[in-house]
Amino acid sequence: MNQEAKLRAKMANDFWHSYQNSPSIKSSFPQVQEIILNLNFNYDESYRKKLKKTLNPNDKAFFQIECINKDCVYGGFNLSSEVRGMISKKVTEYNGHQTCNGYQDFERYKAKDYHCLCKLNYEIEIKYQDGE
Ligand SMILES: [Zn+2]
Repeated sequence: MNQEAKLRAKMANDFWHSYQNSPSIKSSFPQVQEIILNLNFNYDESYRKKLKKTLNPNDKAFFQIECINKDCVYGGFNLSSEVRGMISKKVTEYNGHQTCNGYQDFERYKAKDYHCLCKLNYEIEIKYQDGE
């Protein structure tokens, strides 16, 4: 395996492990019925992608999102603190944006230069068990 393939295998493995090690939504947040993530990615002004994720109590309480730039190194987005903050205050809707802090590709990663800068606009909706 070349250097890049090794690094990508390690990143995929780390991502999988943190997913596997996350508790379920049910055990972390018993008051939550459903979490809906509406994700709008915009990479390099030319590549856009929309993604909707609906998470139920049996799903993992895992809110890391992979970058849509397939060459990105050590990038991605993490909505964990936003989701946790919402649940602690029983907020039902929240919007925001994040910029990917990874490297644009493997060459840029080695040079430690040029961040990916893929943009994510997100809307988070949370439904609670008592219907509030
Ligand atoms: Zn990225």
